[in-house]
Amino acid sequence: MSNIIGKIHSFESFGTVDGPGVRFVVFLQGCVLKCKYCHNPDSWGFDDNKITQTPQELIKEVLKYKSFIQKGGVTISGGEPLLQAEFVYEFFKLCQEEGLHTALDTSGFIFNDEAKKALEVTDLVLLDIKSINPTTYKNLTGVELENTLKMVQYLSSIKKPMWVRHVLIDGWTDNDKDLTELADFLTTLDSVEKVEILPYHRLGEFKWEQLGIEYEFKGMLPPSEERVQNAKDIFKSKGIAL
Ligand code: SF4
Repeated sequence: MSNIIGKIHSFESFGTVDGPGVRFVVFLQGCVLKCKYCHNPDSWGFDDNKITQTPQELIKEVLKYKSFIQKGGVTISGGEPLLQAEFVYEFFKLCQEEGLHTALDTSGFIFNDEAKKALEVTDLVLLDIKSINPTTYKNLTGVELENTLKMVQYLSSIKKPMWVRHVLIDGWTDNDKDLTELADFLTTLDSVEKVEILPYHRLGEFKWEQLGIEYEFKGMLPPSEERVQNAKDIFKSKGIAL
C-alpha cells in the first residue's frame, strides 16, 4: 500500500476532449504557472484541494467506470500534474496493470527525474506549448519556456507519443510568424502524433472574479473562424496532422 496522497481538484467521469476516446479525467491540484487565460485558477494553490486520495483509492473509483473507458482510458490533468509526479507514477502504474491507457496533460514546466519516472508509465503526453516565442510565453504564463522545450526534446528522444496543444489567442499566439516557427519546430521532432488548436474561450472568467483575482483578458474575444483555420492551415502545410 502506498503512503502517497494525491491532492485532487476534481474528476470528470466521461471526458471526451483530453485524449482518445471516453476517459476518466483527474484534475490534480497545484500549478506554478499563472496563465492569463487559465480556466481553472482555483487549481493553482497546492493546498487548496478538495479531495485527497491514495493511488489505490483513486483506481478503485476509476474502476467503477471501467466498461465505459476501456477503449479510451484515464487522463491526469491539472493544475500542473507533474508537481505530484510520484502520485502520477503510482496511479498510472495501477491503471496500466488494469489495461487502461494513460494520458498526461502537462505544461512541461516541471521537468526533473520524478517527472521522467512518471512518463515511463504514461502512454500519451498532451503537451501544452503555449507559445514558441520565449517573450510571449513568459508574459502569458509568468515562467520561462526553457523547461517545456527540454521536455519536448526528451519526449521526442524516447519516442513518447505526444499531442501538442496550442491555445489560440487574438494578438498573443495567433500571429503567423510564431505559428510557423512552432510548426517548424514540431517537424524536427519524432513522436508528435498531432496538434490540437484550441481557440481561446472565456468559460473560466467567472472563477477569477469569484477568487477576487483580476482577469487581464476581460473583454478578450475568442479568435475568429478564419484565424483558427489560418492556424490549422499553417500546421497542415508543414505536414502536421490535426
Ligand atoms: S498551466 Fe494550466 S492550470 Fe496552470 S495556470 Fe496554465 S492553464 Fe492554468
